[in-house]
Amino acid sequence: MRGLSASIVIHDEYRFLIDCGEGTQRQILQSGAGFKRLTRILLTHGHLDHILGLGGLMSTFLRWEAIDELDIFGGRPALDRVHDLLFGVVLRGRQPPMPLNLHEIKPGTFFEADDFTVSAFSVTHRGPGCLGYLFETKPRRPFLAETADRLGVPFGPERSDLVNGKSIKLENGKTIMPEDVLGPLQKGVKLVVVGDAGRTDDILETCRDADMLVIEATYLESEAEMAHQFSHLTARQAAELAVQAGVKKLVLTHISRRYREKDVLAEAQAVFPEAVVARDFDSHQVKRTG
Ligand SMILES: [Zn+2]
Ligand SMILES: [Zn+2]
Repeated sequence: MRGLSASIVIHDEYRFLIDCGEGTQRQILQSGAGFKRLTRILLTHGHLDHILGLGGLMSTFLRWEAIDELDIFGGRPALDRVHDLLFGVVLRGRQPPMPLNLHEIKPGTFFEADDFTVSAFSVTHRGPGCLGYLFETKPRRPFLAETADRLGVPFGPERSDLVNGKSIKLENGKTIMPEDVLGPLQKGVKLVVVGDAGRTDDILETCRDADMLVIEATYLESEAEMAHQFSHLTARQAAELAVQAGVKKLVLTHISRRYREKDVLAEAQAVFPEAVVARDFDSHQVKRTG
């Protein structure tokens, strides 16, 4: 979302809300995304514009729609502040309406499912413990259905055996090996999400060859001095990072309300023509590019 700090990453049945700026629960209601499966929140850092929405979210859960569980991940300073906000301000002695887990994370992989991982990495911003998030699907070999048809592989569990690396025997006695019906290894899809950041050189390698980079661009170059002072990026800096890292798609967020979208786009696109500015309720699909 353009002004508000909150984005949702969806992969299969998994959802991750990244940051929770003020008003996030209203936006989620309006977008129809629903709260039910939104049980994991990843925080980039503890500044209020990234966590205040947790108060509204919690009071929504208290009043009507409790979810089964809520896991909040972040660096220690962000979690300490979230703890104060939720237990000190919102709950004030009441129990949270669901099991509420605050998970301190450090750079590295902290979530893994069958075919994808989520890792955290350090980002330089004001104060310690600021994190960015890297979503990667695992490399895989695609199943060549036409080849399997031609070889007479039946539709059934035989096909999943082959996908899982097991050879099968056909009724005519012929053995089919996984490599007979699996195509060449395809690299996974890589999505990098960076919240507020004061520099880009230390995240360049993490962003390398990403299919999509979502990153802040709070300022324009005309206010580069202020950007530096508050440890934020300009649209041009974000675009230069995208070029240096060879990313496929760039989505700019956290744009100051003082700017017009077209000015931000013009500055970024002069460097990286594929740049877009995130708008509320926008959805961007990350595609495998081989
Ligand atoms: Zn910040
Ligand atoms: Zn911020």
